Amino acid sequence: MQSLREAFGDTREQLELILTFLDERAFADILLLAAGLYLIYRTFRFSGSRRILSGVLFLAVIFILSRFFGLRAVPFLFITFRDLFILLLIVLFQPEIRRMLERAMAFRGFRLEKEGAFFSDQLSRTIFDLARARTGAILILPGRESVEAFLNGGIEAGAMYSDALLRSIFDEHSPGHDGAVLIENERIKRFALRLPLARENTILKNLGTRHHAGMGLSERTDALVIVVSEERGTVTTFQSGLMESVREQSELVTKIQNFAYRSQQPAGERLRELLQTAPAMAASLLLAILLWGGIILSEGRIRQTEVKVPIESVGRPPGLMIADMSHHTVILRLSGTKQKLNQATPENIRLRLNLRDAAPGRLTYSIRSRNLELPPGVEMIAADPPELRFSVVAINESEARIRPNLAGKLPAGLSLESVQVDPAQVAVYLVSDNADRKNLSIPTERIDLKNITESTEVAVRLLPPAVMRPVEKRWPQIKVRLTVSQPSLPAEESGDLPEPSLDADN
Ligand code: ATP
Ligand code: MG
Repeated sequence: MQSLREAFGDTREQLELILTFLDERAFADILLLAAGLYLIYRTFRFSGSRRILSGVLFLAVIFILSRFFGLRAVPFLFITFRDLFILLLIVLFQPEIRRMLERAMAFRGFRLEKEGAFFSDQLSRTIFDLARARTGAILILPGRESVEAFLNGGIEAGAMYSDALLRSIFDEHSPGHDGAVLIENERIKRFALRLPLARENTILKNLGTRHHAGMGLSERTDALVIVVSEERGTVTTFQSGLMESVREQSELVTKIQNFAYRSQQPAGERLRELLQTAPAMAASLLLAILLWGGIILSEGRIRQTEVKVPIESVGRPPGLMIADMSHHTVILRLSGTKQKLNQATPENIRLRLNLRDAAPGRLTYSIRSRNLELPPGVEMIAADPPELRFSVVAINESEARIRPNLAGKLPAGLSLESVQVDPAQVAVYLVSDNADRKNLSIPTERIDLKNITESTEVAVRLLPPAVMRPVEKRWPQIKVRLTVSQPSLPAEESGDLPEPSLDADN
């Protein structure tokens, strides 16, 4: 149950997360998502692939749930075969995808706009004449979408519409009477066309292939298909997968006109159409909202990251300092939403040792969230190392003399007149109380006298003992000036000669 709760998280927190994302862009996102879903719904509404679609949706739900509950094998399989799945979907739904794109692009006006009242009158009359004569016929009036993809065979005509031509085409003695006629812009474009058939369907149970062909095309496109029955002498229309019997010629005129001029439809008719599509639109919108929320939540699911941060100390009393720190950086394992974790950079995180109440001695300091300054919404899970060890030592400020480490002897005949050290002393902190504070000295690096042939200045480093720390940031470099006496003079004279110059200095 623990993992279930983890998966759902704190509901209120999740809701708050969603609310933080709710802005104009979110509305645009949701509307586009809803439009896409509605398009998919419209495309698949009458499609024979509906069964496959439900199968795909079922698989998708299984995948999402298995991810959600942290299963391993199922998502692994899905991810491994993802490309194959996508390929399979494209092949399976090729006609639907094509149709969906066509629908999405079908924002232009109706193709039948030019068909005026006269034309619809004429056409209706011919159709009812055919019905009375029991001549079978099937006519296609395309809507906004292209029907080309669904038409097979056929003979190009491209002729002006006329009553006589249409009758001649459907005359059963004519070789082109088998199949459908495509009428566009008051022209008979093609005839003897074969249409895709509808699935076996209870409404069409007692009807033959002609009616199945009419239904088939209307399921796949927004065309109006008019069928005249040879056996029954009836007129039937198919539109968006709906079949309607037309008894009166005037009824057919209105129907054709309504189809051609949808915007001029009577208000009642338009309202009825709207009411028919409203539930699907509402469902698309609802689904879009749920989907969007789900995506936001999955984006906002708690994730983890690792950040390496330096250690700082605060509140150190003036007389104390830290020595022998076991680590200088700590790797923090942090959790938070993806968005919040983006803020968790080393610059935004402070790991501060508070030394305000520290007393001298060995200390162990556990790294806990309360010692950390983390960006809001980010929490610490673990730290590596989990604790820091160090000493707090009392410090005393003192002066230490610099002791140049002169080694060996000057070359024969030379003698050392004076040694000047600059600086002569350095301010130091004394880490240990045991040190003799009076006689502090720091040796320099070794200065080998046997290489000295004349007065010179050497720069040397200090070799401070462990109990001393520099008050300044670092130990200074030391200059040692060695003054050497002149060689090749008798011992007494050599001792006298430099003296006047020394006196002159004074
Ligand atoms: P009717 O009431 O006129 O008899 P029906 O629905 O019973 O029609 P059938 O009796 O099977 O249908 O009529 C067959 C005629 O339908 C064919 O001669 C042909 O003209 C037309 N037809 C059949 N299949 C198609 C198709 N796929 N595309 C276009 N026309 C077709
Ligand atoms: Mg028949």
